[in-house]
Amino acid sequence: MNRAIVCIVGRPNVGKSTLFNKLVGKRIAITEDTPGVTRDRIYAEGEWLGKYFTVIDTGGLEPENEEIIMKNIKRQAEMAIDTADVILFVVDGLEGLNSTDREIGNMLRKSGKNVIVACNKIDTPNFKNQVYEFYELGLGEPMIISGEQGLGIGDLLDEIVKHFPEDKDTDYDEDLIRVALIGKPNVGKSSLINNILGEERVIVTNIPGTTRDAIDTYFNFGDNRYVFIDTAGLRRKRSIYEDVERYSVIRTLTAVDRSDICVLVIDAAEGVTEQDTKIAGYAHDNGKAIIIAVNKWDLVKKDSNTHLEFEKEIRRVLGFITYAPIIFISALTGQRVDKLLELINVVNNNYNLRISTGVLNDIVNEAVLMNQPPSDKGKRAKIYYGTQVSVRPPKFVIFVNYKELMHFSYVRYLENQIRNHFGFVGTPIQFEFRQKG
Ligand code: GDP
Ligand code: GDP
Repeated sequence: MNRAIVCIVGRPNVGKSTLFNKLVGKRIAITEDTPGVTRDRIYAEGEWLGKYFTVIDTGGLEPENEEIIMKNIKRQAEMAIDTADVILFVVDGLEGLNSTDREIGNMLRKSGKNVIVACNKIDTPNFKNQVYEFYELGLGEPMIISGEQGLGIGDLLDEIVKHFPEDKDTDYDEDLIRVALIGKPNVGKSSLINNILGEERVIVTNIPGTTRDAIDTYFNFGDNRYVFIDTAGLRRKRSIYEDVERYSVIRTLTAVDRSDICVLVIDAAEGVTEQDTKIAGYAHDNGKAIIIAVNKWDLVKKDSNTHLEFEKEIRRVLGFITYAPIIFISALTGQRVDKLLELINVVNNNYNLRISTGVLNDIVNEAVLMNQPPSDKGKRAKIYYGTQVSVRPPKFVIFVNYKELMHFSYVRYLENQIRNHFGFVGTPIQFEFRQKG
């Protein structure tokens, strides 16, 4: 699903973080164990009137001297302009309008984006007159809120969702394969895109009339149609915020959200970094298919074992995505780039693979015969039957007598049995256990 993206901007201390927490409420979809993402809550999911969105708090950089603050604020605004469907510009109703607000306001106004001004800290109706000076920003009627008291939040959310693009859920065709190249700066993502697009094997297509064509690249390879998500960010090199890890992570996470298949690009010389682990964890938690591409393979001194050693190390660090195939490429020489495209096809097929209930239950029954489900305090787990309820990623519902007996290790065992028969290379498999009398 494509969620709309809401970015919160504003100078320090106007109440952005407070508002962020109010907007996303308790519905934090990023699971607690996504490494590194939750500690610093910059990114969370919200829902209002059945519309799903992602809120990004662009603030949170350490306030330093005036000059640095201004630079950071410009980065925030640029990032928001690039990424957001709706920009929420928070101003401080107690302090009033100042020159920094004006400067942010100018940038936002010029962008032509949907901007909502939220005049914060209006904790009582007595303060309402404070709001008038903010009309001067030329960004329409400011919404009156108090993030701390939770006042005006419902109206604000109404206004936010009003501005979501209509086609947010349907702006990609079903048969389009959506691929995100993810990985740290300098691992070779842009070179890879250029290599793929520079070759005659692909036909680059433009889809006119979509808002997405500016940032995504469409092309055909073989019988398939692809879109590489957010290629503008890769091809237009080094926008001013790209050097800030926080922003490159946000940018990557939003690309993951919009994709089906993530190609995690790793620099062979550097190996898997902590940021790679975070991003892979996020892709996995969100049920995305994953391919690991070890790039700059041309630079590696190799003997016959080198790629096996690399694989072993990657499996050790990224143990939670053992299903992800690993491919060694060079974006520079084009080595195995064709193979990568073929692999994307294979993984896409697996991501969409549906196995019949009959076959699934044959596998499950056989698995149960070989290895009985766990028992506890005289209760033995019993599996009645299973069925695949969805694809992208494949998800199985299994009916059992005692849900709580389905331990992680047994689920893993079932998963392996299914993979032994069907591979499902590149795609996560999800299970839901339902209790049946
Ligand atoms: P940020 O730097 O923009 O993220 O601002 P914070 O959310 O950290 O808030 C800065 C300060 O303003 C904190 O002391 C908050 O308690 C306070 N604050 C935030 N929202 C409100 C509000 O609605 N009313 C009042 N009176 N204070 C607020
Ligand atoms: P990005 O930041 O991930 O988009 O990385 P770039 O595509 O800008 O690449 C960063 C640097 O690595 C550039 O100097 C590239 O020429 C170089 N590079 C990218 N891919 C390869 C490769 O496969 N082999 C070698 N030797 N250099 C590469």
